Amino acid sequence: MIDTHSHLYLDKFDEDREAVNERAVEAGVTGIFLPAIDFDSIPKMEKLEHPGLSFYKMAGIHPCDVPEQLPDELEEKLMEFCSREDFYGVGETGLDYYWSTDRVEQQKESLRIHCKVAKAVGKPIIIHNRESTDDMLDLIEAEQDGNLTGIWHCFNGTVEEGRRAIDMGLHLGIGGVLTFKNGGVDKTVAQLPLDKMILETDAPYLSPTPKRGKRNEPAFMKYTAEKLAEIFGLSLQEVDERTTATARQLFGIV
Ligand SMILES: [Zn+2]
Repeated sequence: MIDTHSHLYLDKFDEDREAVNERAVEAGVTGIFLPAIDFDSIPKMEKLEHPGLSFYKMAGIHPCDVPEQLPDELEEKLMEFCSREDFYGVGETGLDYYWSTDRVEQQKESLRIHCKVAKAVGKPIIIHNRESTDDMLDLIEAEQDGNLTGIWHCFNGTVEEGRRAIDMGLHLGIGGVLTFKNGGVDKTVAQLPLDKMILETDAPYLSPTPKRGKRNEPAFMKYTAEKLAEIFGLSLQEVDERTTATARQLFGIV
């Protein structure tokens, strides 16, 4: 399995990162994508290594970390990292109106810049979205010129929103929220195409049931995969193979 979204470089894993990596391997995880929160994330990512795991770096500024004044050199810095061969995506970026609506314009401008860089380097964009779905989809639609690919990370939209996202070239990142009782994401996901879905954890956040409330880690992705298998009436192995193939194709890895 490939965890397409994990913040394993954060200090929440400093104490036992080796054990976390070991458990990931035991659970069948072979690759982990690392979305950045800011540029300080990158040196921390570069320290990650484990013989059983491939780590894939990405560069971006999380919408909750967008400053009051966007740095002039944002586009240039993103280009510098994202055009490198050892960077696989642009993000995470996106919109978040849940935590604050003080910087909506800055968040949108930042997302536009990330889209521009993603199109220029031909790598997927990683989109965070919270209570901002219409604005996010409108902005992506406006940016889509046929060259933009990406992931609606931690998908929790409606069937219509999911279809709209897929129609404009996005994939859906399926995380622990899928397993939440009364979350409703399972019913929505059942009506959308599995071949547009990839697995993710968002570790250390959003642990799936039965680990809900605890620190999340890549090994816990198996619970989300099991739920996805149940929804589509497939074996765990088939879900694993199909989502892994989709992730490989999207990110252009072998
Ligand atoms: Zn994230």
